Amino acid sequence: MEKSRREFLQKITLASTIIPFANMESKGNYEGKKLRVALIGLGSYATNQVLPGIQKSTMCELGGIVTGTPAKKESWMAKHNLAEKNCYNYQNFDEIKNNPDIDAVYVVLPNSMHKEYAIRAAKAGKHVICEKPMALNAKEAREMIAACKAAGVTLSIGYRLHYEPHTKEIMRLAKDQDYGKIKFVDGKFAWKNRDPKAWRMNNQYSGGGAFMDVGIYCINASRYATGEDPISVTAQAIKTEPEIYRDIEETMQWQLNFPSGAVARGTSSYAFNCHKLAVHYEKGNLEMEPAYDYGPIKGKTHKGPMEFPHTHHQTLQMDGIADSILNNKPLRTPGEEGLKDMIIMDAIVKASKTGKVVPIVYS
Ligand code: NAD
Repeated sequence: MEKSRREFLQKITLASTIIPFANMESKGNYEGKKLRVALIGLGSYATNQVLPGIQKSTMCELGGIVTGTPAKKESWMAKHNLAEKNCYNYQNFDEIKNNPDIDAVYVVLPNSMHKEYAIRAAKAGKHVICEKPMALNAKEAREMIAACKAAGVTLSIGYRLHYEPHTKEIMRLAKDQDYGKIKFVDGKFAWKNRDPKAWRMNNQYSGGGAFMDVGIYCINASRYATGEDPISVTAQAIKTEPEIYRDIEETMQWQLNFPSGAVARGTSSYAFNCHKLAVHYEKGNLEMEPAYDYGPIKGKTHKGPMEFPHTHHQTLQMDGIADSILNNKPLRTPGEEGLKDMIIMDAIVKASKTGKVVPIVYS
């Protein structure tokens, strides 16, 4: 277990030395090669966050799009000066393999479609960036990693907070232990979602309720706040309005146990609003609220406010990923990072169904 903690901390140290570009939010004078990224799924997140992230980044540019809506194709071509040959639909997407103008494909589709499009992109020889949750479960996540390995392309997960300064400080505190050992982490991420037509409310597309959508942030946070991977879990799925949350859970709460003895409690829900993270150390406390959304993220420790600049997370993420791919550096958020969360999430679902303590096994 000490080994897995060491590996995690080494990864953070390595990653935090990543490039000056990852801390920049302007194009600067960068004249090197850019990562040309095609977006698949031009929905809310791709349009409102990822696209501006690419546009503000130093090392990326929009290379193409994949959309099933002809009108979107026309408007994106006109707005973003895209050649028709760089625009695909879901049927002809595999032809992207013959397109030398696109280096990477960013999958921003409903969760159930991540695996298929990540694997198709890998088979087309393109680097893959995939939104969270990486897949519906660990089995799918493993298939995605294997496909990318077989194709010799990289797989990154859209964990934008790993590039964000407040979050990087929490990672640093896990490594340097300024406030001593980590004792308890409490993460809550919830938002009100009652839209029966939304794919997020349909288990076939989402793979679960708020847990799959935003609970993953709390799970990931408990890992970066402790610098450890949990070894067992208990959990409860709760539904107060079954007529609204028909085939998904409404609220999930869980308790993760870490090798050092640290404990993390997590809560996700579609029934209320909450965006909090608290980390309790031997010699102090840290609280962030909001802790996970696009910012400004706000935090304080027992010593006072956390003074870090507000950043556009997706810009830092895109530059971080591009720098790793273009300059052959370790990825900060590789598929393996996503897989660990999927393994933990599978265990949480099992614990919520059985009411038992479920061991978490990574191999
Ligand atoms: P969205 O519904 O706004 O967009 C989904 C897109 O997929 C749409 O363009 C839609 O047309 C397309 N699509 C293709 N086939 C579809 C089908 N069968 N059903 C529904 N849509 C279909 O969703 P979103 O909020 O953009 O989320 C997309 C992904 O991004 C999800 O995996 C989500 O978890 C992730 N996300 C991540 C963050 C983050 O901060 N990292 C934030 C929001 C969403």
